[in-house]
Amino acid sequence: MPEGGDGNKVDRMGGRPVQVVVSKNDHSFELDEEALAEILLQDHVKDKTVVVVSVAGAFRKGKSFLLDFFLRYMITQGRQDWMGNEEEPLQGFSWRGGSERDTTGILIWSEVFVTDLPNGEQVAVILMDTQGAFDSESTVRDCATVFALSTMLSSVQIYNLLHNIQEDDLQHLQLFTEYGRLALEDAGHTPFQKLQFLVRDWSFPYEADYGDKGGEIILNRRLQISNKQHPELQSLRKHIRSCFSGISCFLMPHPGLKVATNPEFDGKLSDIETDFKKQLQKLVPMMLAPENLVVKEIGGQRVKAKELLQYFKSYLEIYKG
Ligand code: GDP
Ligand code: MG
Repeated sequence: MPEGGDGNKVDRMGGRPVQVVVSKNDHSFELDEEALAEILLQDHVKDKTVVVVSVAGAFRKGKSFLLDFFLRYMITQGRQDWMGNEEEPLQGFSWRGGSERDTTGILIWSEVFVTDLPNGEQVAVILMDTQGAFDSESTVRDCATVFALSTMLSSVQIYNLLHNIQEDDLQHLQLFTEYGRLALEDAGHTPFQKLQFLVRDWSFPYEADYGDKGGEIILNRRLQISNKQHPELQSLRKHIRSCFSGISCFLMPHPGLKVATNPEFDGKLSDIETDFKKQLQKLVPMMLAPENLVVKEIGGQRVKAKELLQYFKSYLEIYKG
């Protein structure tokens, strides 16, 4: 998995991507319990409350690329120069793997980042990547499962979209969350925590500015409920709002043609548009600075790393076949 191009060498990093949930040919899902236990049951991790940040959405829309900047932030502990130097290739989760598809499933970074919250409590931050393609009936179902699982297991789900929030993105979200909601029987609590829409290649900054302020404008417009809407559109919006304890949106500019189209691009900052880097400087701390971390809760209870392993097992059981 770490191979896949020069941009994906991970030898100089303290961790590697580990595929913990794999889809099988018969569309069932399998947990690599041993690999997951090795990460979650480390002595300095197992008894700490977790923060799980996941990125989900369609294939080849820059999810892993973004996560590699999350890694840079966590590795440097948010130091002033966390983005790194201008010429360093971007490494970590495998990105730009060519047009061939990676296996559908869930990956987590093997290094868990122990971080102090402002109140002094230490938490364990886990970064989660998801993979999948929406190119046939069955893969849509697989994707729904991956999305549902990663939403159930994360405290922040980043829904990565290209260009805009479209009606069918919301419909997919409804399908995904319905899968998850059915699986969680607990009726007393909002099933999921934070949903972060992330729109890539936003190209209407004159209509709504890049960043979270513009994102809020677009999100409110898309999730607005009015009596003039068809009842189906109204209930879709109510459903989405009721599933998450918080929803926000961030608009990212286009990263530039080298990132989008140049096969030689290795992720170095000097090849990325300034506007994109400027917004990354805002987005990444908004997700990962100690004061913004969202602790994982299930049924109103804070979840420890060793308990997260149990939740992986019981949730996987639901989707076994
Ligand atoms: P994933 O399948 O969603 O994980 O996508 P990857 O992270 O592997 O990236 C796929 C391709 O998109 C790579 O060639 C990246 O260089 C490129 N890419 C990364 N971020 C962006 C972005 O914000 N916009 C565009 N247009 N391309 C991007
Ligand atoms: Mg990827």
